[in-house]
Amino acid sequence: MSRPERGGVVVVGGGVAGATAALAISRHGLPVTLVDEQPQAGGQIYRAPTPYARRHVPPNHEFSGGDRLRALLAASSVRTRFSTRVWGAWGASPGMELDLLGPDGIDRIGARALVVANGATERFLPFPGWTDPRVIGLAGASILMRNGGTLPGRRVVVAGAGPLLFSVAHQVMELGGRVVAVIDSGRRGDWLRLAATLAWDPARLRLAAQWMTRLRLAGIPIHHQARIAAVHPEEDGLSITISGTIAGTVAGTGRQGTPVRHYGADSVACGHGLKPATLLTRTLGARHRFDAAGGYWEPETDPSGRTSRTGLYATGDAAGIRGAAVARLRGLITGHAVALDQGAIAERDFASLTRRPRMLLRRQEHVSRRMLPLLNASASLSRAIADDAIVCRCERVEAAALRAAVAAGARDLNQLKAWTRCGMGPCQGRMCEDGARGLLAASCGLPPEEAGSFTPRMPFFPLPLAALTGTFAYSDIPLPKAAPL
Ligand SMILES: Cc1cc2nc3c(=O)[nH]c(=O)nc-3n(C[C@H](O)[C@H](O)[C@H](O)COP(=O)(O)OP(=O)(O)OC[C@H]3O[C@@H](n4cnc5c(N)ncnc54)[C@H](O)[C@@H]3O)c2cc1C
Repeated sequence: MSRPERGGVVVVGGGVAGATAALAISRHGLPVTLVDEQPQAGGQIYRAPTPYARRHVPPNHEFSGGDRLRALLAASSVRTRFSTRVWGAWGASPGMELDLLGPDGIDRIGARALVVANGATERFLPFPGWTDPRVIGLAGASILMRNGGTLPGRRVVVAGAGPLLFSVAHQVMELGGRVVAVIDSGRRGDWLRLAATLAWDPARLRLAAQWMTRLRLAGIPIHHQARIAAVHPEEDGLSITISGTIAGTVAGTGRQGTPVRHYGADSVACGHGLKPATLLTRTLGARHRFDAAGGYWEPETDPSGRTSRTGLYATGDAAGIRGAAVARLRGLITGHAVALDQGAIAERDFASLTRRPRMLLRRQEHVSRRMLPLLNASASLSRAIADDAIVCRCERVEAAALRAAVAAGARDLNQLKAWTRCGMGPCQGRMCEDGARGLLAASCGLPPEEAGSFTPRMPFFPLPLAALTGTFAYSDIPLPKAAPL
């Protein structure tokens, strides 16, 4: 590998937070490189749609917002490296280094300051049958429909937690599909309380009201305090069994009683909220805290995104899930903070540039924090994970094996990993950590944060061996001489 490119500031993640931070940094005259694994900037909400989706999905503010962001980047001095994934990170003093895999193979880049804006990971709580390929994540389903113009199936059951549930149900209808039912693990009252908070954010309130009205008018059953108990393949699709969130409650009512209902569908879109993607900040040794409302770990940051490690910043959803508007404001403030710390602007300029964004951020944060409990279903659902549900799909570890390990004395996630291989596969626990943590906490009455989190390992993602070895002829491999007799 060549010597790492030494540079200025590196931003990982070209979503709304990272792109906004990079633009702010470049405006202060600092060299900045933006790295993203996607072929274009935009992240989750502003992801560039395919030409097919532009023709088939009704125009929306995500398309136009994304186009604006991409135009601003193209007109700026930000150096962009798209289709490039960060798979390793090193904390060598004084700067940091990142291992990249891009169109030209692997590369290492040095950063005197590093902004981590790598967004969020979707959370899943397992049930028997969730590994069927027709069960898709809510975020995945949304990307498929919004950015690809394609339905996950003609008849879709939408299940899980948080506002994405209703957004995805609405998108299915928009593309001409049928929503068979919406299975929400939250309580109806939580949504009504949230609606009151959304009075602070009329645009989001209008959108939510539009989604709900359309579902109600179409007569689609919506079950609150309910979960998928199991999914079974049938000849003509999937059979979906739903139940109350706590074993023994009636789906959709929260009352004690017979807990079962059945639906038939072509696919299930299911997800239990989002959590910050913390592999990078954890690998680089930043301190993290457990957010009890969100039920996830996030890096400790000051209000400008500085982590406990000098030169390392976390912003947008990577610093705690708050939605797109907060991500943009956080990215802007972090960008100015980097410029301040690098000596490109004075404290006075920083204060005046961030006064209004900080004021707007306080208001938006208030609304976004209220949504967190709706995105955190693990406490109520983990107790009900069936013994035969596969929790770790990479290593095929079932809940019963985890419960046996807990009964034998395992008390944190890394013990579970060592004893059962849960979290040891190529996804590095991204898919199973929440289920395993919830199950461990519920089985022995521990607060979830005491279960810790899986230790991150590099490479963060599977790498093609050819990328590491490069091309070579076997005859070039130096063979050691035979040992002297
Ligand atoms: C399906 C879906 C729908 C949503 N709808 C709404 C909505 O209607 N309203 C709302 O307010 N919020 C919504 N959100 C949340 C919103 O998308 C996020 O709050 C917002 O996108 C956060 O911006 P971000 O820049 O922090 O992260 P993201 O937009 O997630 O961007 C992170 C970027 O980092 C890149 N990345 C990650 N890891 C690596 C790596 N290792 N190497 C290189 N690049 C990497 C990703 O490719 C991505 O482009 C939605 C989220 C999802 C998933």
